[in-house]
Amino acid sequence: MAIIISGKDLAKSKKMKMAEEVKDFAHQYSRVPHLAVILVGEDPGSVSYVRGKEKACIEIGIQNTTIKKPDTIEEEELLTIITLLNEDASVDGILVQLPLPSHIHSERIIQAIRKDKDVDGFHRDNVAALYLKQPGIVSCTPKGILEMLDSISYELEGKRACVIGRSKIVGMPVAKLLLDQNATVTIVHSKTKHIEQVTKEADVVIAAVGKPRFVRADMIKEGAVVIDVGVNRDPLTNKLCGDVDFDQVVSKVSYISKVPGGVGPMTISCLMENTIECFLKHMEEEHD
Ligand code: NAP
Repeated sequence: MAIIISGKDLAKSKKMKMAEEVKDFAHQYSRVPHLAVILVGEDPGSVSYVRGKEKACIEIGIQNTTIKKPDTIEEEELLTIITLLNEDASVDGILVQLPLPSHIHSERIIQAIRKDKDVDGFHRDNVAALYLKQPGIVSCTPKGILEMLDSISYELEGKRACVIGRSKIVGMPVAKLLLDQNATVTIVHSKTKHIEQVTKEADVVIAAVGKPRFVRADMIKEGAVVIDVGVNRDPLTNKLCGDVDFDQVVSKVSYISKVPGGVGPMTISCLMENTIECFLKHMEEEHD
């Protein structure tokens, strides 16, 4: 029977460690890390993600400011808010909750965030740093996935990994991180023919498709490790479900993550970690 990689438990212990670290900051630096989150509109998924981030900030002792704006906001106003946050020395991290309404150019907004406050790791300089293997902010979901594999001491070197999905925020960066660990990585996407032939060869499968129960047992090799990134609504029950048909796949694999309780909590704890990292860099610059 497979072992469940609990992102929830891992994230909990990471948050406890961070809370210990942050405890000393007020005394040491006269302030604590500060994360500013911009929420546009009232999409239930986005509202719930932002609430999760607020909760994690409270647990760790990170200052949190959430700026809520209606979905009628003009792009210029949003850019002005980002400029103010960029210039505010008390703010260490800025996150714009995605997706944004269609009249706003998301890319223009994301690129307006100062790279040293880009806790999501989406700024072009941070993306370039990842691909050039230079220091930078690594985006939260891919970072969390690698930590989940690390938590089971999984040796990626020489293994075959298959990433399903090639998005800028999950598929591509996680493939790069796997490659950096010397795995042999194949990325499959909506135009790939006979996906199952590729996934069946893989020792590790990362599913980031956004389609409920897309990955079936017959697509997976016996004993593989499967990480499910998907966050979907089951069309029948409306309950949260992943990209992997967990009930089918679980009996075939060695390790698997669940939805909910898998990658999601790790993404949030890595966001907190990135906020602390930005804060420490700012403190270092202040004291230079
Ligand atoms: P996305 O931007 O929509 O990308 C989905 C990827 O899946 C695309 O590359 C697409 O291929 C591929 N795809 C779509 N249909 C396919 C098919 N039939 N066969 C093979 N590949 C197919 O999504 P995303 O932002 O990467 O997110 C993926 C999932 O992860 C979503 O459920 C999202 O909610 C979830 N997510 C979770 C977290 C978390 O923290 N837990 C964070 C981010 C995302 P093409 O490029 O060819 O279109």
